[in-house]
Amino acid sequence: MLPVVALVGRPNVGKSTLFNRLTNTRDALVADYPGLTRDRKYGQAKYEQRQFIVVDTGGITGDEEGIDAEMAQQSLLAIEEADVVMFLVDARAGLLPADKGIADHLRRINKQVFVVANKVDGIDGDSESAEFYALGLGNVKQIAAAHGRGVSQLLQEALSPLDASFPDMQVVEAPKEEDLGAEAQREKLQSLPIKLAIVGKPNVGKSTLTNRILGEERVVVYDLPGTTRDSVYIPMERDEREYILIDTAGVRKRKKINEAVEKFSIVKTLQAIEESNVVLLVIDAREGITDQDLSLLGFVLNSGRSLVVAVNKWDGLSTDVKDDIKRELDRRLGFIDFARLHFISALHGSGVGNLFESVQEAYASATKRINTSILTQIMEMAQDDHQPPLVRGRRVKMKYAHAGGYNPPVIVIHGNQVDDLPSSYKRFLMNYFRKSLEIMGTPIKIEFREGH
Ligand code: GDP
Ligand code: GDP
Repeated sequence: MLPVVALVGRPNVGKSTLFNRLTNTRDALVADYPGLTRDRKYGQAKYEQRQFIVVDTGGITGDEEGIDAEMAQQSLLAIEEADVVMFLVDARAGLLPADKGIADHLRRINKQVFVVANKVDGIDGDSESAEFYALGLGNVKQIAAAHGRGVSQLLQEALSPLDASFPDMQVVEAPKEEDLGAEAQREKLQSLPIKLAIVGKPNVGKSTLTNRILGEERVVVYDLPGTTRDSVYIPMERDEREYILIDTAGVRKRKKINEAVEKFSIVKTLQAIEESNVVLLVIDAREGITDQDLSLLGFVLNSGRSLVVAVNKWDGLSTDVKDDIKRELDRRLGFIDFARLHFISALHGSGVGNLFESVQEAYASATKRINTSILTQIMEMAQDDHQPPLVRGRRVKMKYAHAGGYNPPVIVIHGNQVDDLPSSYKRFLMNYFRKSLEIMGTPIKIEFREGH
């Protein structure tokens, strides 16, 4: 599990700027699921030695009416899923009534809240942020999100109390030298059940598929205590292999109102991806590839998890329509050419059985032993086939390669100036390793180390 940090505040205080700094990306993944959220962005943040999920809740002012009230409600839901709330205010604009409105909301919920005075660059931060103590939410932290000032200290203060409860938060680097670490990790992975997360946007058929996989009679119907962000973990066996199904759709019985909102949660989906070994992404054939599907794919790719794609609702479609859909998938999913695509009907069961062959294959690939001599041989073959380019008049020289981790497989390449390899060459290497090692269903990560 990763902790969730929510950014709240009225418009223009710098939430997106901070979000982009934390996630290192300009194109945030926007969740505009119909009837669920508006203007909420989720991102995987990696800052210094920690990783976490960050949510930009969109602008709220605290005195919304009508549709705005609905939006603010959604922001509050996002806050409910958060472990830490960062309440941004604008040190240059000073304390505004809207800030007080938000503070009223935040005081009512039982959450760790940090008041963050942004934009303290070029002004006297201490005196300009003093008035925010009047919000009654304790200490005021000063940052300049646009320049990164104060961000490290803020995160240190906000997240270090969570270190013990969220061990996954620490970024683990691949071992520097070849050691038994990677092999021990691989052996451990192989001895454990495969954690399979079934994810997808609302209504693609996740619960129908989960039911189908489990067989109606085996559905777990007891209700587990938990919040909207908890998935259900269902142990199962298939072809003599143990699995733990991570059910994000909520097959368990729910008596709560507001079912649509209850059932789907992006934080839950992100946590499930993070905790899985293999992700089964469900797409609705009738809707084609939507931005939301691409967002989820982006998250899966970032996480390095193995991936199998199920194109669901493949029943009752004409051949022409099927051909059109296949063409669109080819065109838009080229960037995940490592993943197997299955056309299924969760409703009727067709194609569902074969999914597990691909899941097994993906997991086997992700944990397949790759030893130093084979990796180095493949690397040399690639180098012979296609010389690395010259950088500042000198040829990049790759010397040897070894495994740095599994699920995803990490290949560490040592050499001279390898840091300077252009991304086109890195892609070439990636494909070369993939083909040579016969790895399917999982991304490969290549890391470069200067020297020997
Ligand atoms: P949001 O609406 O809360 O997401 O705010 P944005 O991130 O879009 O920022 C609003 C404006 O404030 C933009 O023009 C930013 O460039 C500016 N801004 C954000 N952070 C800083 C900062 O640290 N210093 C200064 N001077 N301007 C900032
Ligand atoms: P979830 O929100 O992803 O869990 O989606 P559900 O499993 O609740 O399914 C949403 C709707 O799609 C329901 O009405 C299902 O009956 C329907 N559905 C699910 N799978 C299929 C399928 O394979 N074919 C067709 N035609 N409908 C399906």
